[in-house]
Amino acid sequence: MFSSLYHRFSNDIGIDLGTANTLVYLGGRGIVINEPSVVALNTKTNRVVAVGMEAKNMMGRTPQHIRIVRPLVDGVISDYEVTEEMLSYLINKANEIDKKLFRPRVVIGIPVGITNVEMRAVYDAAISAGAREVYIVEEPMAAAIGVRLPIHEPVGSMMVDIGGGTTDIAVIALSGVVRAKSLKVAGDKLTEDIITYMRDEFKMLIGEKTGEHIKMTIGSALPDEHGEEMSIKGRDLVTGLPREAIITDVDIRQAMYSSISQLVDVIREVLETTPPEVLSDIMQRGIVVSGGGALIRNLPKLLEMQLKVPVTVSDDPLTAVARGTGVILEHIDEYKDVLIKNTDDISFR
Ligand code: ADP
Ligand code: MG
Repeated sequence: MFSSLYHRFSNDIGIDLGTANTLVYLGGRGIVINEPSVVALNTKTNRVVAVGMEAKNMMGRTPQHIRIVRPLVDGVISDYEVTEEMLSYLINKANEIDKKLFRPRVVIGIPVGITNVEMRAVYDAAISAGAREVYIVEEPMAAAIGVRLPIHEPVGSMMVDIGGGTTDIAVIALSGVVRAKSLKVAGDKLTEDIITYMRDEFKMLIGEKTGEHIKMTIGSALPDEHGEEMSIKGRDLVTGLPREAIITDVDIRQAMYSSISQLVDVIREVLETTPPEVLSDIMQRGIVVSGGGALIRNLPKLLEMQLKVPVTVSDDPLTAVARGTGVILEHIDEYKDVLIKNTDDISFR
């Protein structure tokens, strides 16, 4: 009815359901929501209390009966209600931004590794949250589209999306995923590594926020000409009292070394099983890295050295997937072949 009154794209939104951050792309507008993928649950009533930034701000300050969950990391995505609450929160919020939004068509990016049950939960939850049609796309495919790789062409591309909970690796050619792998070594694991290192080597307890801050400030995969150091505050494990310590980039590289090696090994494994023609395309055109983990200093350089393949970081790596869902929804017919239209299409690879 009266559809001509509506803005051409106003009925479509793209959602990047990341393990760390959830982004919403409003058709014709761009990214309008960027919030942590966090949900606060009341364990007594089993109801969702808060979503996104509001839920993250409750972290570490919650009463006994409130539990903070990260749906994609803690596996709650298979919990239908949490997923639905989160999606309806996002759809409603997009609705507040664009009042014309009514039963939108929704393109959702999901990690490569999630199970069929989880994918079905996402699909059903989006419908129940008010979506008219739901299209699911794998995140590295969305990222590749977002950074304008020639995914339809008979030429191989490799996308490595280093997020919070997972790193998704995909080799793409002719609109299809030729090889894919997902591993649970990504940004959050590196933060954990730093926390563990501080505990073991400095006998100091630091929180997640501090760990992440250290990673973003002096974390690097290879040394630079000038070393870096920073002073951090934590709790002395022996005395239980606050203490300060000076740590350097060398410490942090050591802390992250084993995880980064694992990451390199898995990318190498994917390359090793890639058909030779496609591999030769990748060797020529390089690997593109996206996701927040792509911002770790010198990580692309390290990958390049270890894998002997050129590596580039996508521009604005944190928004590549969301921008990809935007490109898809604005040209849906062109991208039908990369979408999982209904959950019966979902197959194991
Ligand atoms: P997801 O797609 O899984 O939600 P993101 O792509 O949003 O994840 O990336 C989140 C991860 O990236 C977090 O672990 C965060 O610590 C890390 N990150 C974000 N910015 C930086 C930065 N500048 N340097 C290093 N790591 C970063
Ligand atoms: Mg992501």
